[in-house]
Amino acid sequence: MNPYDEINIKLLEASSHISNKVSDGTLEMLTKPWREIVVSCPIKMDDGNTKVFTGYRIQHNAVRGPYKGGVRYHPDADQNEVKALSSLMTWKNALVNIPFGGAKGGIQVSASELSKSELRNLTRRYTLSIDKFLGPNTDIPAPDLGTNSQTMAWMMDSYGSIHGYTPAIVTGKPVELGGSEGRDSATGRGVVFIIDEICKKLSLDPHKQDFAIQGFGQVGKWIANIAYQKKYNIVAVSDVKGGIYNKNGIDITELIKHYEIEKTFQNFKNVEFITNNELLTTKCDFLIPAAIERVINNTNADNINSKFVIEAANHPVTPDAEKILESKNISVLPDTLVNSGGVIVSYFEWIQNLYQHHWEIERVNSELQKIITKAFHEVFDKSEKENINYRLSALSIGLDRVIHTANLRGYI
Ligand code: NAD
Repeated sequence: MNPYDEINIKLLEASSHISNKVSDGTLEMLTKPWREIVVSCPIKMDDGNTKVFTGYRIQHNAVRGPYKGGVRYHPDADQNEVKALSSLMTWKNALVNIPFGGAKGGIQVSASELSKSELRNLTRRYTLSIDKFLGPNTDIPAPDLGTNSQTMAWMMDSYGSIHGYTPAIVTGKPVELGGSEGRDSATGRGVVFIIDEICKKLSLDPHKQDFAIQGFGQVGKWIANIAYQKKYNIVAVSDVKGGIYNKNGIDITELIKHYEIEKTFQNFKNVEFITNNELLTTKCDFLIPAAIERVINNTNADNINSKFVIEAANHPVTPDAEKILESKNISVLPDTLVNSGGVIVSYFEWIQNLYQHHWEIERVNSELQKIITKAFHEVFDKSEKENINYRLSALSIGLDRVIHTANLRGYI
């Protein structure tokens, strides 16, 4: 089954928990992207040869506002993967109640194998190939796996070369170019807000929990950093090459310094080296996948050894794995809620750009906390009231909002 089918399975299950009446035709509309753009991006490589990369921008649904979602550079970012991620953006933006629809972009490329100038040329070619479908009130990209603030600076510049200076065309830009304070840490900060809220609700002391985090990029590194500053015990972290473990906790401040220089965990002191599969099956309280999708699947779900799975990555748990986790009483906090901090602060960045205004970091973080905490309580309360899991609760809240807006606009 491809990832898009898997997201639609989850969605159809959630549709039986919504308060709006929904017809089969409406559900069909909500499970099909509105527009799928596929582009070929030829670029001249440093060695003089030309190479062609395939890029996508999938605009899933714009009932509630302009399309919004990241751009991923990864060899597996094919059309079905990008479609799945675009759909998740629709439900995430509706759940946290910000005025955006859902979209996602991607290029099938291993970004680490390209030089800086090759990446810049590829980003320009991709942006110019889709520029007619973008705009601050049409579709606003952001960073995701394999892309970062530099990628957004190149996208903004390429779009601006045709349409003039338009900072609101992308979010996640460098602060010097109109990016928001706190956008780099926003997704990780949001994840820690969610952990704190679930601990409060269930009367757990977060200082007595063990945390294991897969992924040490923009999301995983910030989760580790913020949680460590709060003195939480992080027993394991990993990147694509493997991970490290220490039952008594890893010194994350030292690890970040080491990783920035070495770009690897190798030679870090006082830790045991483990594989990614060992990280996922480590005994801990909070397992936080923050790398790629479908890492918890029917091959390893039986061996997951945590109390919670906190989906910082998008779609890290397949539907069949989720059933196994449920049978083991492991609670899954879903991606649409957990990693929404990134798009919430992207929303703040977009507002700041439209008003040519600059918010202080304290304002960004406190507004983020307000929005994500409200969404957490809505998901938690509905889940308790209707005795359904957190994912069904989160997806059905998003679905209800999209259907209601579609009704008001006269689509259905
Ligand atoms: P990133 O490229 O900055 O970092 C990815 C990390 O995952 C790296 O440490 C990499 O080494 C590791 N990784 C890659 N492949 C792996 C594999 N096969 N096994 C184990 N680790 C692997 O990406 P990111 O921005 O941190 O995104 C991570 C996840 O969070 C993605 O699912 C993304 O869609 C989601 N997300 C990101 C944001 C954001 O603001 N960046 C917002 C919401 C959701």
